[in-house]
Amino acid sequence: MRYVSTRGRAAVLDFREVTLAGLATDGGLYVPEAWPTLTKDEIAALAGLSYVDTAVAVMMPFVGTTMTRDELHALCTQAYGRFSHAAVTPLVQLDHDQWLLELFHGPTLAFKDVALQLLGLLFERFLTGSRYHLTIVGATSGDTGSAAIDAVAGRAGVDIFMLHPEGRVSDVQRRQMTTVGAPNVHNIAIRGDFDHAQALVKAMFNDPAFAGRFHLSAVNSINWARLMAQVVYYFYAAVRLGAPERRIAFSVPTGNFGDVFAGYVAAKMGLPIARLIVATNVNDILARALTTGDYSSRDVVQTPTPSMDIQVSSNFERLLFDLGNRDGDAIAAQMRGFEGSRAMRLTNAQSQGAAGLFAAERVDLDEMALAMRWAHEHACQTLDPHTAIALAAAQRHASNVPIVTLATAHPAKFRDAVERATGTRPALPARVGDLFEREERYDVLDASYAAVSGYIAERAVAR
Ligand SMILES: *Cc1c(COP(=O)(O)O)cnc(C)c1O
Repeated sequence: MRYVSTRGRAAVLDFREVTLAGLATDGGLYVPEAWPTLTKDEIAALAGLSYVDTAVAVMMPFVGTTMTRDELHALCTQAYGRFSHAAVTPLVQLDHDQWLLELFHGPTLAFKDVALQLLGLLFERFLTGSRYHLTIVGATSGDTGSAAIDAVAGRAGVDIFMLHPEGRVSDVQRRQMTTVGAPNVHNIAIRGDFDHAQALVKAMFNDPAFAGRFHLSAVNSINWARLMAQVVYYFYAAVRLGAPERRIAFSVPTGNFGDVFAGYVAAKMGLPIARLIVATNVNDILARALTTGDYSSRDVVQTPTPSMDIQVSSNFERLLFDLGNRDGDAIAAQMRGFEGSRAMRLTNAQSQGAAGLFAAERVDLDEMALAMRWAHEHACQTLDPHTAIALAAAQRHASNVPIVTLATAHPAKFRDAVERATGTRPALPARVGDLFEREERYDVLDASYAAVSGYIAERAVAR
C-alpha cells in the first residue's frame, strides 16, 4: 500500500514512513493511493471475531508489506489488552433502533485511546533498530493529549510536546496530561484557543528550518495510522448489528473530522453504511459546509464539549480530495484560498458527493442537555456531553435502520457538565486512581510561534 498527499506534491510513502511522518511536506495530508475493499463474504466472515481479530482483518491491507500479519496481531493484542472491557468497544442498546458504541474503555477514558495505544506501539516497532529520535508535536483540545502521552510516556527514542489551550480543557483532562512524570513528556499550555495551538503545530511542520532539525511526527488525526485504527470499530459494530445484510447508520460527535472520516473509509471499503451523521455543537462550520457548501471559519465559541470547539477541521481536506477526483493541485489551490481568507466554497462535485453519505446536524446546549437527561431517565445511561450531542443528532434521524451513536468519552471526564444536566456527578473510574493527588507539571506560553518553537528547540533531540 502506498500513500499520496492530498496536495499532490509530496513524496509517495509506504505505511512505515507515513506512520512516522504525519503531515506531508507540501502541507497536505496522506491518504492511501486507492481504497482497499472487503467483499460481502469477507465482511460476513467478521461476525463473531474478537476485536483484535477484526482489527487485523480490517487494517492488514493498509499495512501492506511493512509488517507481517502475526506482528500486527501481536501489537493489537498488546494495545487492546489495556482496555478495561473484554469487548474493547462494547455496544449498548438505548431503544428499538438507537445504540451506543462505547469507545472510552481505554486508559485515558476517551476514544482517542483506540488509535493512540496502537500508534505508540507502531512508533516503537518502526523505530527499533534505527537511530532515529522522534519528536512528536501535537495540539489537543483535551483528549488527544492525554491519550498520546499515555501511549508514549517512558518509551525510548521519542519525546512528546503537547500544546493545550490554557483553561479550556477539563480538570480531569489537564491532570491526565500534566501528572505524567516521564521525562520524555512536555506539556505546554497556550494562551489562546485550540485553533491557535493547532496553527502553531502546523507552522512548525511547514517551517523547513525547524522541521529540518528534528524528526517531527504527528499524533493528531492528521496521522494516517490513527484514522486507520478507527475504521475498525465501524466494522466491529456494524457486523454485530447485521451487516453486510443490513445497512447501519452512525452518528459521530465531530471536531477535526477524523472519527467520522474513518467511517467514510469504512464505507469506501465496502461496509454498507446508510448514513454518517456529522454532529456538531454551535461551532458548526462542518454543518454549514455540508448543508450549504460554505466552509467559512468563525470565532470559536467555548462550550462544555471542548473537543468539538473547532472552526478548522483538518481532516475535511481528505474528504474534499477524495470527492474532488483526487486532484492534488486543485485541493492545494482550494486550501491556500481558505488559509488566506478563512472561507471557501465546496465544488458541486464535493457537495454532491458528500450528500450521498453524510448528513450534518448542529446541536445546541439545550438539546445536548435534553439528550443527556433522556438517556439518564429512559436508558439508565450517563453520557458525556460530546456523546449527548451525537445522540441528539441521531434522534432527529430516527428511521428504520439501526443508528449507532459513537460514545467518545467517559462521562467522568466532564463531571461538571454532566452534573449540571442530570443532577448526578459521575464517579471517576478506579483506573485513574489518585489523579487529583498527583503533582502537575507544565509551562504556560503565549500563542507565539517564536516562543513555542524556541521552547521545543531547546528541549528536543536534533537529527
Ligand atoms: C476528539 C474528540 C471528538 C472529535 O473527534 P474528531 O476526530 O476530532 O472529529 C469528539 N468527542 C470526544 C470526546 C473527543 O475526544
